[in-house]
Amino acid sequence: MVVDRKEDLRGLSDNQMASVAAAAKAEHKEGKFVIQLQNTTGQPLLGSLQNRQLRERIMQTSLARNSHGGEFDTRNIVTRTAQLRAEKAKLLGYANWAAYQLEDQTAHDVPTVNKLLTDLAPPAVANAKREAADMQKIVDQEKGGFQIASWDWPSYSEKVRKARYAFDESELRPYYELNHVILDGVFFAAGKLYGLTFKERHDIPVYQPDVRVFEVYDRDGKPLALFLGDYYARPSKRGGAWMNAYVQQSDLFGTKPVVANHLNIPKPPPGEPTLLTHDEVRTAFHEFGHALHGMFSKVKYPRFSGTSVPRDFVEYPSQVNEMWATWPEVLKNYAKHYKTGEPIPQALLDKVIAAEKFNQGYKTTEYLSATLLDQAWHQLNPSEVPKDAVAFEAEALHKAGVDFPPVPPRYRSFYFSHAFAGGYSAGYYSYIWSEVLDADTVEWFKEHGGLKRENGDRFRAMLLSRGGSADALGLFKNFVGRDPYVEPLLKRRGLDHAQSENGASRRTETETLQRGGVR
Ligand SMILES: [Zn+2]
Repeated sequence: MVVDRKEDLRGLSDNQMASVAAAAKAEHKEGKFVIQLQNTTGQPLLGSLQNRQLRERIMQTSLARNSHGGEFDTRNIVTRTAQLRAEKAKLLGYANWAAYQLEDQTAHDVPTVNKLLTDLAPPAVANAKREAADMQKIVDQEKGGFQIASWDWPSYSEKVRKARYAFDESELRPYYELNHVILDGVFFAAGKLYGLTFKERHDIPVYQPDVRVFEVYDRDGKPLALFLGDYYARPSKRGGAWMNAYVQQSDLFGTKPVVANHLNIPKPPPGEPTLLTHDEVRTAFHEFGHALHGMFSKVKYPRFSGTSVPRDFVEYPSQVNEMWATWPEVLKNYAKHYKTGEPIPQALLDKVIAAEKFNQGYKTTEYLSATLLDQAWHQLNPSEVPKDAVAFEAEALHKAGVDFPPVPPRYRSFYFSHAFAGGYSAGYYSYIWSEVLDADTVEWFKEHGGLKRENGDRFRAMLLSRGGSADALGLFKNFVGRDPYVEPLLKRRGLDHAQSENGASRRTETETLQRGGVR
């Protein structure tokens, strides 16, 4: 999007201004400004821009992408893809594409996924409406004279956030020094839960000088695995964070696992400490949850080793491991000021945890809306595929009760690559499904005394060590002793009606599974 006048960009930071000017220059539009849209409905600059007309223009442009004619229009591709998938599923003997895709996932069938979405949508939308009402109050106090729209949401939710949960990330970081976080946090928790010990090795060649190698010893003192910690960003590194198993455990070949966690923490100047954000700390625990899944694997065939599990199951153990990041005994052990050794002030931590449940109505609704679209397109039989994709989309959102215009779907069908280009067709629900299992398991740990060897050993024996060698939902049920409940997730996200102010949040981010590794 080209913006002609600098004054329309009021509210942008110096960095943001520099990047829209640089983008214009790259397109030979000197003196103008170019806003590059990212591939979600929401756009990062909406939170800063003060010009409401420009905000609206950005949102409308984003929403209209690929569905207003021209060479990038994907409407026909969407309907054609839905048609072909429906026909393929029918040839294979399934009612629809979703039924075919879900059969070997943990959720297993269409009714299970639909029930999950039906349970979650009403509380999510109700909470989004409450959040909109909070923001409307600010608009009215400012005598804005308009109703909150999707293009106003980021900037007004930021005002609510500042008023209620203000804290400065820079106050936090001195307590999150990388070495403390890994050795005294991540490894410490694994010691308490599973009896693991770690010894750094400097004799093993690495592909990059700052990669660290640890020998991991099991509870009986015998070597279990090698763990590589590749924490720093570098120009040639892929973005995000992920785990990879370079050698998979297998009894068939007698291999022990070599697993790695790859993060993208900016490297400080020489001699400076590496201080993490709260999000990076949580990511370190998350990725180590995948690493444990890989290291504890005790299966015969590499095909079923470690994280080789259904897509809607793989994020579950890693999300569970995040719980230890803020578990008091673990936190006390690692969150110390890097200079003074002072423990992190409880008041500061409380603010961080409270802020995590903020805006969950919006986040859950935009995610669920996209999930519902993914299911709607893929639960059609060949004769039901519509001609008018835009009308079908609107109808699907309406029927599901999530058509609340201030919160549009995170992706509309026409730029929804998870559902139509990537490998997530009928599978975008996976993130929240994993989180249902995760929240339920976190409750189980809390009810059974938390950070204890007994609990860790049970989780390891019944679940982590089994990889994909048994039915995934069966593993979960054996571990907790029943079917999964959705209530712990609602509570965590503050979506349960009775206790709407409770619980923390998880990201429902758009992670992509990579071959041989998981994020
Ligand atoms: Zn993950």
